[in-house]
Amino acid sequence: MDLGKLIRERIRDVDDYPKPGVVFKDITPLLADHVAFAGVVDAIVNHHGRGTIDKIVGIEARGFILAAPVAYHFGAGFVPVRKKGKLPSRTHEETYDLEYGTETIEIHHDAFRPGDRVLIVDDVLATGGTAAAAAELVRRGGGEVAGLSVLLELSFLNGRDKLGNLDVHSLVTV
Ligand code: 5GP
Repeated sequence: MDLGKLIRERIRDVDDYPKPGVVFKDITPLLADHVAFAGVVDAIVNHHGRGTIDKIVGIEARGFILAAPVAYHFGAGFVPVRKKGKLPSRTHEETYDLEYGTETIEIHHDAFRPGDRVLIVDDVLATGGTAAAAAELVRRGGGEVAGLSVLLELSFLNGRDKLGNLDVHSLVTV
């Protein structure tokens, strides 16, 4: 099976979402295809090697869908990064720039044991602001960022430039 080809076929372009001029990459057709969904999860797990990761961080909201089965297959714990105000206990927070305005994301202050090796998982790497902020939250929480895995990288937005020497693994790049 050519997983890259299958992923490309199952990601749908939606014009003018969430605002005019933006082409949104919709992953719901991929999630609805169990072969594609399982293939994506297996590819992320196989890339990193079992037993080397303590925690999987999923970024709200589509990152949760991929990160939870990855955590299960690794035998690692799952940690959510959420938009400000959604996590119930004490948090670390990071604010980053969007095209218009800012966004703030949070992680629970006690999500990691010191030195935990942490893999961050999200669906799409676009400008890199979200992933860079998530990596900073992991470091502030005492974790060691082992890498970032995404389903799709929009390379024309140069997200990697914001991520320093982070190990970035994308299954498909456009
Ligand atoms: P960035 O911070 O890299 O610009 O944006 C990445 C974040 O926004 C990810 O959490 C991702 O879920 C979301 N995102 C941005 N553009 C898209 C898109 O075209 N499709 C999907 N599915 N998510 C996107």
